[in-house]
Amino acid sequence: MRNYIQLFTIIVAAIVFTNCTTNKQESEFKSKVNEYAQVKLTSDLIQKLPEKEKQMLPVLISIADIMDELFWKESYGNKDEILAKYNDPYVKKFIKINYGPWDRLDGNKPLFKEIGEKPDGANFYPVNMTKEEFEKFESEDKTSLYTIIKRDKNGELQSIPYHIAFKDKINKAAELLITASELTDDEDLKKYLKLRSEALLTDNYLESDLAWMDMKNNNIDFVVGPIENYEDGLFGYKAAHEAFILLKDKEWSNKLTRFAALLPDLQKSLPVNDEYKKEVPGSDSDLGAYDVIYYAGDCNAGGKTIAINLPNDERVHIEKGSRKLQLKNSMKAKFDKILIPISNIIIIEDQRKHITFNAFFENTMFHEVAHGLGIKNTINGKGTVRDNLKELHNTLEEGKADIVGLFLVTKLTEMGELGEKELMDNYVTFMAGIFRSVRFGASSAHGKANMIRFNYFDKKGAFSKNEDGYYVVNFDKMKEAMNSLANEILVIQGNGDYEAAKKMIEELGIIKEELNNDLLKIYQANIPKDIIFEQGNKVMGL
Ligand code: ZN
Repeated sequence: MRNYIQLFTIIVAAIVFTNCTTNKQESEFKSKVNEYAQVKLTSDLIQKLPEKEKQMLPVLISIADIMDELFWKESYGNKDEILAKYNDPYVKKFIKINYGPWDRLDGNKPLFKEIGEKPDGANFYPVNMTKEEFEKFESEDKTSLYTIIKRDKNGELQSIPYHIAFKDKINKAAELLITASELTDDEDLKKYLKLRSEALLTDNYLESDLAWMDMKNNNIDFVVGPIENYEDGLFGYKAAHEAFILLKDKEWSNKLTRFAALLPDLQKSLPVNDEYKKEVPGSDSDLGAYDVIYYAGDCNAGGKTIAINLPNDERVHIEKGSRKLQLKNSMKAKFDKILIPISNIIIIEDQRKHITFNAFFENTMFHEVAHGLGIKNTINGKGTVRDNLKELHNTLEEGKADIVGLFLVTKLTEMGELGEKELMDNYVTFMAGIFRSVRFGASSAHGKANMIRFNYFDKKGAFSKNEDGYYVVNFDKMKEAMNSLANEILVIQGNGDYEAAKKMIEELGIIKEELNNDLLKIYQANIPKDIIFEQGNKVMGL
């Protein structure tokens, strides 16, 4: 699964759009492309790799490019044909960014009217297939993550495993994975790459997923294959091909391992009564910081993810847990290209020095750590928090992770665990981050959680606004608000109190006029919404 905070349809923009005149001219394509800031994707960690592993990178890129070609077939169909149709370089670029002629940052709106709507099932199913036809279709593996549905010569549906449907390309990728496995001395990475090669040839990924969880000391990581099922908007049955080439930031990853040992004590220090913190926080999940040096296929389409949580297979969760990968350099790119410009519009000038990448990264990392704290089962024997809060659970849980994450940063800084630094950096950066996330919509749990926090902070005086309309963080009041909001959420979760959750979301999970005006300011400043990459051997200096 991915952290989709930056991928959601821009509901807020829709509110804002009504206030602006949209110019349907050729420059529109240019402005669509310019919604993405272009970033060179590279990492200092490349130079630290052993010579042999450096040689592995071009091989991994070739495999990733195959995943990219497969994703084109899954998302749209014939890439060359559609690109040949248009001369305008911005139109071509738009189509490449979106892997098809539909705008992923705007609810898949077609680029031109005549293109029509994007099929819900993308190109995983015949475009003219109805849901009823699929339901009647008798086939053992039609709902498999790893088959594509086509029509045979007689027009009948058939379900074809990926390794057969894409035989030549898959064979090539599998062969290159073996080549790659010979370019490392890390036995665990070697084993994983070999098993992943086999997995592509059989569409059975379990063994390779287990081997992936066993990798602990590798410098290079390679997420590859058919993985997420979001592209199949019809049923969510089909996994789309993608690849991430990653380098492990061992310094940060080791810090995180050290904090894991402190979790039981941190749990006890949560600002809530003892009965709400009786559970011992899980240490099963493996959290690490990485630089990503290549995105291909599904993960490269439209908005870019800055965190990955894999594998998706629950059999692996039971046996080995899962791994969270925080993608530090692409996070930094979004920080520079999006958060800093937003802050310049929103935050008072003398507090802008507190908006730092280090604080942003800490806030994000401890959001992930905070998911493991608090409580999973209600204190009154009603069962799990998730079952009781139902569709509201995700919003409350994301809200908890954000605010308890900030609480953890506060505690650890006070304990001296995070080195010499100013907590004010984390607070002002946290405040600016709210605007970045709210901008991406009320339809997501993350977006809603941010609106709740904004309104809660407002009510508690955690910030004020000066006469020029800039926000000023009040450190002491924000700290108080942090503690009391953490308390309220943890209590609602512990009680499994659906009604209280609903009340909180209805009262606070909204965009009031003032915030909407600020969002309008951000919108009018044409700040990029996401990023695209210049990437490959040359950019990496290989
Ligand atoms: Zn989260």
